[in-house]
Amino acid sequence: MTHALVEAREITKDYRMGEETVHALRGVSIRVERGEFVAIMGASGSGKSTFMNMVGCLDVPSGGALLVDGVETAAMDSDALAELRNRTIGFVFQQFNLLARTSALDNVAVPLIYAGVPPAERRERARAKLGAMGLGDRLDHSPAKLSGGQQQRVAIARALVTEPKILLADEPTGALDSATSDEIMHIFQERNDEGITIVLVTHEADIARYARRRIQFRDGRIISDEPVTDRMIAA
Ligand code: ADP
Ligand code: MG
Repeated sequence: MTHALVEAREITKDYRMGEETVHALRGVSIRVERGEFVAIMGASGSGKSTFMNMVGCLDVPSGGALLVDGVETAAMDSDALAELRNRTIGFVFQQFNLLARTSALDNVAVPLIYAGVPPAERRERARAKLGAMGLGDRLDHSPAKLSGGQQQRVAIARALVTEPKILLADEPTGALDSATSDEIMHIFQERNDEGITIVLVTHEADIARYARRRIQFRDGRIISDEPVTDRMIAA
């Protein structure tokens, strides 16, 4: 019996804001198995990013249990979280979050520094990942010299260069036009077909149709969780 890649049991997250407490997650339970492609939808403020940050080991829940690749994260300190994150998670964001004035190659190589990979191997692996994203001729370009879609492909290469088990993407097409969004979803579907597990946040129903399973958040809770029956394949 193998463990789920993500197992959340009734997780809660409270943020203290002076006198007020924001209940961002109010008891969320999910199992994500290897090879799944999950789309998380829900209105702004429903807790999607908070949930992703917990799964991505950027923060820990206030209550409940969260196992990432079989490891309970709730009691972990920041070093242990960083180690689990580096070993297990690749994260892609809406705004790409690339280092400015830094080449595509060096951006992609950064996670390998933390993983303790020697410099020559870092460059080799970064070059290979950028090549797989169709950016083999853009290695020395800084983000400012790349289009939005190219920047997001650099960010995806950076997320994948450590060979993570789970790719998390929080509104990855939110800053892109629809043709470019389809290119990004094509990359995600290809990677998922190769076996990587993907959890994607989107508020666009059309983007969610590229996934295999659709989960809806409302007010810090899951209100539906079902297979995508009208799935689209990105060309
Ligand atoms: P979504 O990604 O679905 O838009 P979020 O997870 O960002 O929602 O936010 C859920 C709720 O938690 C919102 O009310 C938001 O204002 C609050 N929240 C999120 N992050 C923080 C934080 N760091 N400090 C305080 N409140 C936060
Ligand atoms: Mg969000």
